[in-house]
Amino acid sequence: MYDITKVREDFPILQRKIYNRPLVYLDNGATTQKPRQVVEAMVDEYYNVNANVHRGVHFLSQQATDLHEASRETVRRFIHARSASEILFTRGTTESINLLAFSFGEAFVHEGDEILVSTMEHHSNIVPWQMMCQRKGARLKVIPISDDGLLDMEAYAQLLSEQTRLVCCTHVSNVLGTVNPVADIIRLAHQRGIPVLIDGAQSVPHMPIDVQALDCDFFAFSGHKVYGPTGVGVLYGKETWLEQLPPYQGGGEMIKTVRFEKTTYNDLPYKFEAGTPDYVATHGLAVAIDYVTALGMDNILAHEQQLTRYATQQLQQIDNMRIFGPTDHHDAVISFLVGHIHPLDLGTLLDRLGIAVRTGHHCAEPLMHRLGIEGTVRASFALYNTTAEVDALVASIRRVQQMF
Ligand code: PLP
Repeated sequence: MYDITKVREDFPILQRKIYNRPLVYLDNGATTQKPRQVVEAMVDEYYNVNANVHRGVHFLSQQATDLHEASRETVRRFIHARSASEILFTRGTTESINLLAFSFGEAFVHEGDEILVSTMEHHSNIVPWQMMCQRKGARLKVIPISDDGLLDMEAYAQLLSEQTRLVCCTHVSNVLGTVNPVADIIRLAHQRGIPVLIDGAQSVPHMPIDVQALDCDFFAFSGHKVYGPTGVGVLYGKETWLEQLPPYQGGGEMIKTVRFEKTTYNDLPYKFEAGTPDYVATHGLAVAIDYVTALGMDNILAHEQQLTRYATQQLQQIDNMRIFGPTDHHDAVISFLVGHIHPLDLGTLLDRLGIAVRTGHHCAEPLMHRLGIEGTVRASFALYNTTAEVDALVASIRRVQQMF
């Protein structure tokens, strides 16, 4: 059912040698590698279809538009949104959150209001809210976490107040792999009529997503983390909310009529999509989604869970190994430190052995601060990783340890 050898053949980069050793790519939380199908579809579009979308009556423009809009429908189906007009194309999770911070802030946030984020957010789900709070005289409130990296749900319930305008929380931590109880988070917020944004950057590549079942009001993710191209991402928003928000950027596409006296705005989703979209990337994203859908998100989840469990067990055998985050409620990310070896040194030496991991604060400085550390080494898994690669990681860490 899940033929890993065949899957790996779809990813040419996995055949590369680094310093004369087979590449072991364990930096999938930062970005995933691309299957042939995605790259070839994009090359084909540039060679055979390319024309600007929406504005042309000619054949190529119609064809490019059809591909672009079919991609929106593919995304809708993938995350189970009600309508394609609830799918906004952006440059990635970061732009999706900035869009929402600006537009939601303009429409709904006033002096003294509060925005809730969690301690384990990526900078892109903190800084846009800080900037908006500064502009609006609002306050950022932070949901604490336990020592083992779980959200403090009691503290969360107490933080929700008359002043809370929005809750912003990551589905899966990019550092700890914690899978947050987002359904509970949303339910508690909704009991008080407060909308919720879920940052899905680290969940979409690893598990089936149903935004209607979750009942989240907004959901953001990046194409490049789910085997698609860079430069494209998605903001999902419930139509009832999006209708009430002002546009983020002005320009072509997002208008109905323009007069010097007054401009009227386009319907959803185009109201939020000023300028020429990256229509080749949206097509690439749709092909990536078709790719993972054909493999089956449940199969991908099962494969990665098995791999993460195995990796955790093997890493725990290493002397002076310190793994951060919860042991259950865990996704395909493992952050660790080994003895007193600086994460940068460990990462650099692992690289020399062909193993690509990420080191540092992982764009989550407040979380590092909470854990009382400067950074970690992070191994993050994808659908093409193998237990042999985990063994290579473990053996290489042991080798580095001996050098020290
Ligand atoms: N949110 C989380 C949880 C992430 O892991 C990342 C990227 O690492 C982002 C947001 C930002 O994504 P992007 O850089 O693609 O906009």
